[in-house]
Amino acid sequence: MKKIRTRFAPSPTGYLHVGSLRTALYAYLFAKHNDGDFILRIEDTDRSRYVEGSIENLVKILDSMGLEYSEGVFADKDDNIVQKGDFGPYMQSERLNIYKKYIDELIENDHAYYCFCSQDRLDEMRKEQQSQKVAPMYDRKCRGLDKKEIQKLLNEKTSFVVRQKVPKDGFTEFNDLVYGKIKIANKIIDDQVIMKSDGFPTYHLANVVDDHLMEISHIIRGEEWLPSTPKHILLYKAFGWEAPEFAHLPLLLNPDKSKLSKRQGDVAVEDFLYQGYLSEALLNFVLLLGWNPKTEEEIFSFKEMIKRFDLSGVNKAGSIFNTEKLDWINGMYIREMDLSKLTKLCIPYLTETRLIEEIQNSKFKIQNSNKVVDFEYLKKVVALEQERMKKLSEIGGSVKFIFSDKLEYEKDLLVWKKMTVEKAKNNLELTYQKLEDLDEKDFQAEKLQEVLNDLAIKNDIKRGEILWPLRVALTGLKGSPSPFEIGEVLGKEKVLERVKFGIKKMI
Ligand code: GLU
Repeated sequence: MKKIRTRFAPSPTGYLHVGSLRTALYAYLFAKHNDGDFILRIEDTDRSRYVEGSIENLVKILDSMGLEYSEGVFADKDDNIVQKGDFGPYMQSERLNIYKKYIDELIENDHAYYCFCSQDRLDEMRKEQQSQKVAPMYDRKCRGLDKKEIQKLLNEKTSFVVRQKVPKDGFTEFNDLVYGKIKIANKIIDDQVIMKSDGFPTYHLANVVDDHLMEISHIIRGEEWLPSTPKHILLYKAFGWEAPEFAHLPLLLNPDKSKLSKRQGDVAVEDFLYQGYLSEALLNFVLLLGWNPKTEEEIFSFKEMIKRFDLSGVNKAGSIFNTEKLDWINGMYIREMDLSKLTKLCIPYLTETRLIEEIQNSKFKIQNSNKVVDFEYLKKVVALEQERMKKLSEIGGSVKFIFSDKLEYEKDLLVWKKMTVEKAKNNLELTYQKLEDLDEKDFQAEKLQEVLNDLAIKNDIKRGEILWPLRVALTGLKGSPSPFEIGEVLGKEKVLERVKFGIKKMI
């Protein structure tokens, strides 16, 4: 059986769109599931859209996501772009000679032709077609030029492009592994440009030549390329090559079913990572954007994805890009994560919100104070939020109260349900006395829980009437983790200081 080879073929035009991440993931999973090869090819023939740094960025993201490829464009240890593999170069801009040869072959075999039409003429033609409400299409004027005329124009150095000579009759059909049988009348297929006037091939030509020469067995790409596929099939035919299999992936939609916004901030993988979505969670999320496991399962490890992925599970209908679901999946991954690992990931966010500053290896200075804490301490801080966090960038905001000198909140917040202010104050006073008697080392969540429960029982007070005012005094917040864990993180001195502050508010 032919070896399965898939490729991810992005154009380096800036950021990586989540839709492209999905394409890369599916192509990767399909290859791995079938013991095949996964390849990264850079489609950079459109120099006007090239954005500096985007290849480096792309390679870095794929690496951090664990989408390993065996051939293509890589970064070496000094971050230089290098290429590896037997089918290179893998950057299309370095393959111009190859394309030239194949374009000449098409012209030679009458499957392509020179077109000398000026831009003005083409614009006129398009306007005319628009006014007649017909689909814009090249009118094939140059298709009939004879050899002599062509030679003359070439000698005169008239600017030209090369166009594909699409058969006028018949149909082109192929079987898409997601969309099924597709059949298109050739007469509606445009004689598209395959080589631009600057000598660069267009996407269509380069893509077909490369997929063939790189022995790609399955082309997996976004649905937006489905309309181009008949042209590609015709090119394969013109070359006398067997076309690979095709699988087009459904569109990504906003919750209102419109096409997913193109605004970079909403769709760039790098922005999602920056906001503190974990790569594993993002991959899990995009996996489900168009692939159906045919069970209720939603969380898939990388291994499990490889084991289970199959193109037959890819949906035809557009997939709704639901950030709430992404938050939910991310939260699941955060909860499952080893606390040390999570803390390491949170440190940049704590630093960015200026809560801490790393002064030396694993020693952190707390903002606006001379207090220095270690990694173990930060672990406890992060543990407070591990259960509730949806994305890492929330950590700064949610644990800010731990680091602040002075909490700001309304006195009424200290009062639980139907309690009076008086009662809340008394209870806080009782709590203060009890905690004051404890040793510093007793400021451990479990011990605090035991002591405070005991306090409630002995004084015949509802637990909530002790714990709520205390929790608010320690955090200044309506919602937070329990006062026991917070008490442990804050330590005796800070706890007493904050309880006293709360009492004073109610005097
Ligand atoms: N360069 C194209 C893109 O960026 C690749 C399409 C394909 O996979 O054929 O979408």
